[in-house]
Parts: sequence; structure tokens; C-alpha cells
Amino acid sequence: MPQQAVIGLIGGMSWESSAEYYRIINREVRERLGGVHSARTLMWSVDFGEIERLQHQGEWDRLAEEMKDAARRLERGGADFLVLCTNTMHRLAEEIAGAVAIPLLHIADPTAEAIHGSGFQRVVLLGTAFTMEQDFYKGRLRETHGLDVLIPEAEDRRVVHDIIYRELVAGQVLPASRQAYREVIARLVARGAQAIVLGCTEIMLLVSDSDSAAPLFDTTRLHALAAVERALTMTGQE
Ligand code: GLU
Repeated sequence: MPQQAVIGLIGGMSWESSAEYYRIINREVRERLGGVHSARTLMWSVDFGEIERLQHQGEWDRLAEEMKDAARRLERGGADFLVLCTNTMHRLAEEIAGAVAIPLLHIADPTAEAIHGSGFQRVVLLGTAFTMEQDFYKGRLRETHGLDVLIPEAEDRRVVHDIIYRELVAGQVLPASRQAYREVIARLVARGAQAIVLGCTEIMLLVSDSDSAAPLFDTTRLHALAAVERALTMTGQE
């Protein structure tokens, strides 16, 4: 059997979702290779307290330095490609990719492929305010992948964002917040959403298919599975 490529995970944003990446990746490798096979991975996990502060202060240059440093550490450690385990920080995807010679597997790409594969065209994006309101993520879904992307109304965006930063990244999964997300999703479906992109890697901790009348596209799962696909089809460097 050829050696699996080494997946380099930039994690800790938050570690609650990085743990899900680790679990999904290893389960999928076991599923595909059988026995007690598991994935070859490296993770550089940052201090999210610092990241969250810089995000909310708009210090994207400093965040770019932190992410480029993470990418270089993983490259030096032997990673064959990078997986940035957060949607929001894909705002810096180009800078990160430019700092290393190994490729970055962009989270929006496997997500868009899955949406196309299911025959949908018009999706709603849920995520942090950065992801919903800025253009780096919607733009890639629209321009690179030709999807129509809606976002919730302002008040619903605030609810979605606050629950992520006040609760989910701190490991709090509360029934009242699940209900709030259900109501946001129901309003979006009433506006014509065909499918919902869970464009924040912690949302899958809170909602699942039974909370939505429209199909959910979970970026954590899709990104982690795409990482396994790449690791098993790319030749690992030694
Ligand atoms: N994990 C989240 C995301 O996918 C939010 C945390 C962060 O800001 O990185 O966007």
C-alpha cells in the first residue's frame, strides 16, 4: 500500500471543531483502509483567545503573520498539504498559500462540489459575521463555483455570530441556541433557500439535519473528507 500523504492541519480555531476534524479524518481513513488504519497528520493548534481578539479588532495583518507562521511550521514538519480548520480564517487563504510551497485545500471548494453534486444552485451561508458579510467566501462560491449565495437578515446574522463566539467556540451547546438557529433556518427556507451551508466549523456541534427543512452542507465534514481523499490519492513525501 502506498504511503498516505501527511495532512497538515492548522487548528485551534476553535479546538472544539479541530477535534471534530481529527475524529472525522481518522474514522474515514479507517473506513477506507480497514483494520486499525489511521491518518498521517500534523496539527499546529493556536491560542484562539489571541486570534479572536485580533479578529474583532480587525488586525488582519497580524493574523496573516500568525497563519503564515503556522503554515511554515507544518511544512517544516513534513506536511504534504494544508487544511485550515476554520472558514473565517480563509479570508487569509491566499497569503497562507503564498507562504509555503505545499498546497492549501480551500474549504469552499469541496463544499461547492458537494452542493453542485446534489443539484443545488441557491444556497444560504451561515457563519461568523466575517464570513457572511465579507466577500472572501461568498465571492469564491459565486465566482469560482457559480453558486447563488444568500445570507440571513442583519438581526439573524447577529444571532448566528454571537452564538458561535459566546458559546460554540467555548464548548457550550445550548438547547435555546439550537432553537434560535432552527428559527433562523426556517426564515431562510421561507425566503427560498434550497440548501444551507454550515460555513463555520462549530455549527455542526449545534445543528443537524433534523433541525432544518432544507439540506445542510457541513463544511467541517466536507473539508475533512476532502483532506482524506487528497491524502490517499497524493503520494506522500518522505
Ligand atoms: N471556526 C469558525 C469558522 O469556521 C469560527 C472561528 C474562527 O473565527 O476561526 O469560521
